[in-house]
Amino acid sequence: MSKALVCPCEDVTTEELNHALAKGYRDMESVKRYTGFGTGMCQGKQCQSTVARYLCEHGKLEAPALHPFTPRPPLFPTELSTWASGQVDPSMAPVGGVPHVDDTLETSLKPAAPVPARAKIVIIGGGVMGLSLAYNLTLLGETDIVVLDKSYLCAGASGRNGGGVRMQWGTAANVQLARRSIELMKGFARDMGINVWLRQGGYLFLAKSPQVANLLSKSAELHNKYGVRTQVLTPDGARDIVPQLSMKGVTLCAYNKDDGVIFPWPFMWGYAQKCQQKGVQIETFTRVQGFEQSSGLIRKVRTDRGDIACDTVVLASGAWSPEIARLAGVVLPNKPHRHEICSSEPLKPFLGPLVSVLDSGLYFSQSMRGEIVGGMGDPHEPAAMQMGSTFRFLARYGQAMTEQMPQLGAIKVLRQWAGCYDVTPDNSPILGRTPELSNLLQMSGFVGHGFMMAPAVAERMARWMATGQSDELFSRFTLNRFAEGRLEREDMIIG
Ligand SMILES: Cc1cc2nc3c(=O)[nH]c(=O)nc-3n(C[C@H](O)[C@H](O)[C@H](O)COP(=O)(O)OP(=O)(O)OC[C@H]3O[C@@H](n4cnc5c(N)ncnc54)[C@H](O)[C@@H]3O)c2cc1C
Repeated sequence: MSKALVCPCEDVTTEELNHALAKGYRDMESVKRYTGFGTGMCQGKQCQSTVARYLCEHGKLEAPALHPFTPRPPLFPTELSTWASGQVDPSMAPVGGVPHVDDTLETSLKPAAPVPARAKIVIIGGGVMGLSLAYNLTLLGETDIVVLDKSYLCAGASGRNGGGVRMQWGTAANVQLARRSIELMKGFARDMGINVWLRQGGYLFLAKSPQVANLLSKSAELHNKYGVRTQVLTPDGARDIVPQLSMKGVTLCAYNKDDGVIFPWPFMWGYAQKCQQKGVQIETFTRVQGFEQSSGLIRKVRTDRGDIACDTVVLASGAWSPEIARLAGVVLPNKPHRHEICSSEPLKPFLGPLVSVLDSGLYFSQSMRGEIVGGMGDPHEPAAMQMGSTFRFLARYGQAMTEQMPQLGAIKVLRQWAGCYDVTPDNSPILGRTPELSNLLQMSGFVGHGFMMAPAVAERMARWMATGQSDELFSRFTLNRFAEGRLEREDMIIG
């Protein structure tokens, strides 16, 4: 009975539900992301009620914890070519969509007990930045840490991204950070005891305009200088790597075989579990509402479960960082921008690298589970905290995909979702101390590449915080740089 199957699409058993309960994941959104139930062909139509009943009987969960997870359109698997035939007005801004998470759910799952009255370090945001920082601090002996998140873990961009990890960047800082992150990712399963499905199939960039071709060849020179083996290829050379690609309009390509993809969810569980084992308190469904400040320092973090007195506060709240900073009277220049993404039915492995057309922002890769996961930026997306999914995205993505790889017209889209890029004026993060509020540390603004940067950035930030050792990341990428006109421009942004 312990191995009875509850989700036939993804082979999830009652044993895995028991594991999720034992780890403290006690709502449908978290259990879905911990076990993978409901992410296969039926999208939960067959298994969701069985899982809810099991969690009710064996985990003593009650409503609202048993609230069904957010449904993902399209409601039925539908061929990409059908979406590609949709009419979209290219000059229009996308609107609406299924909302990402119900605010009332966040309120109703709020624990009754108050938060700890004091902690040395409070980290706001339980995304990959907050969790990886907490984990790295524990490695240096700092364990008096509380991580706060207003929702379940994975509710932010860290649970919504494409899992791409690449060393092909336009600045030396990003090349080096990404190279270190990938090195750390290779040891993640061993160190954290969880499989993150790292697959180093490479990244293949396609350029269609002279500007992008120039960017790719210049960046490749930079990569080679730092020991990253990016090759500049002709379209024919790139077709040797992915024979199914149409090279219409492509003038130049760049390929690094050491880039790859990971599955973000287990990464998050790995960090969270290690943190908890070391004594970090992760308080989910706990919203930061303000700060108590005096003499240029934050004294307390105010939450909807009480206040926490602290020595240091880290703002690692991704695209929400500006609204939380505002509560402390700090203005951040970051803007949230929705990015939509989707996943297909699983196919036999055929696609080695993640492919991206830098001109249009199209990207797609094949996950270890066989799905084609891909997205595409929209130049008409207004800045807003918006995470709904649109028909317009599927139509644009379907058209771009079927142009680039015509055979993919026959694959069925299983689910689409969206998250927010946390965009700064120069596409580089905001790190280091806050002017006028020196115990508020910034860790945001990672645009569309924070997942791959987190392991390396967190390693350095923890060292900087715990030892006081200087590190140029935290003096160069500061909030001050915008007022001082010292921008750190990164142009190799997908989307
Ligand atoms: C569609 C998409 C695709 C992407 N693809 C990639 C990719 O391929 N590779 C890559 O490296 N990166 C990718 N990214 C970017 C990456 O996901 C982010 O840069 C990264 O996850 C940011 O992590 P974070 O911890 O800063 O923010 P988040 O993961 O967003 O975490 C912030 C947390 O703060 C919490 N919070 C907000 N307000 C409050 C409050 N008042 N009180 C308490 N908590 C609060 C939120 O609930 C959230 O959990 C992608 C992003 C998107 C949206």
